[in-house]
Amino acid sequence: MLLYKLGNSAPMDLSWLAEELGYDAPMALCGCRCAGDSFGCCEYNVTVFDERHGCDEARIGDAAVLVRHDSVERPAYGTFAHMSQMRVIRDDSWSIGPKISAFAKKQDALFKHAAKISLVRAKLLLPAARAMLDGDAQEAPFWTKCAAFKLADAVSYYNMAEPGGAHMMSRLRALPNSAPNGVLSVVYDCLGAERATPSLLDRMRKSAIGFLEMTGTGRIALEIIDAKARHLESQSLLTDSYYYICRAVCAELYLQRCVSGIPDSQLYALKVALDPDNNTQHALASIDSLERAVTEFMPHVGWSAQ
Ligand SMILES: [Zn+2]
Repeated sequence: MLLYKLGNSAPMDLSWLAEELGYDAPMALCGCRCAGDSFGCCEYNVTVFDERHGCDEARIGDAAVLVRHDSVERPAYGTFAHMSQMRVIRDDSWSIGPKISAFAKKQDALFKHAAKISLVRAKLLLPAARAMLDGDAQEAPFWTKCAAFKLADAVSYYNMAEPGGAHMMSRLRALPNSAPNGVLSVVYDCLGAERATPSLLDRMRKSAIGFLEMTGTGRIALEIIDAKARHLESQSLLTDSYYYICRAVCAELYLQRCVSGIPDSQLYALKVALDPDNNTQHALASIDSLERAVTEFMPHVGWSAQ
């Protein structure tokens, strides 16, 4: 078994994890367990390069583990930026270590590209949200929030941090408030996280889990989301919990929109989970602000306005 040290990460002995999971294939760890700022309730995110697809979940003692299967040659999950920050935990055939090391050397370009992709997604969502608002569609505020999260993702990638997870808002908060990070103030205004109270978060968390259960999220993954949101609330990080819950829902909603429209049962859950602002004037102002922020950000990722 080979253990690697990538970037500035401290060495970690994760042989126990590979042994317990027992897959006879190369494995790598990603997420906050690599970054070293995880909570006790955070999961281990493991990718198994066994040329399969799909996900597994497991509990090993107190540790929750989410497993994604993937291909070494044609990775289906995430971006190359994601792979560049993975830490190999098993690679007997020396098949993924060199690839991950090669991606790590190109991190600057890979993260800039990922930032651009997130920005393109934000830009595409905004006219769609505006059209829904004009048509009085109930889901218009959901897509405005999705666009705001895509813009925040772009900021995160721009600052060399993979977006997502319960730590994202604290990482964004720690960024210098200079261009182009200043667009985050637009994101926060559009999300409305300052509305977070314990009772609102309790309703949002339960509805988020209901929505994610309906879209097929596994039981352990749901338990992890519940535990992390509760942990943030227990630390009085109410806006962080609001951000975490909404982003988890928006990420799933973004995936699901490619499949079908939103069924009524899910729509009801989303109306609570995403705490939408139903004031039409506010919603239009949010879309306008986000469009200006996206345009402001574009040159920073090498994207010229036409
Ligand atoms: Zn974490």
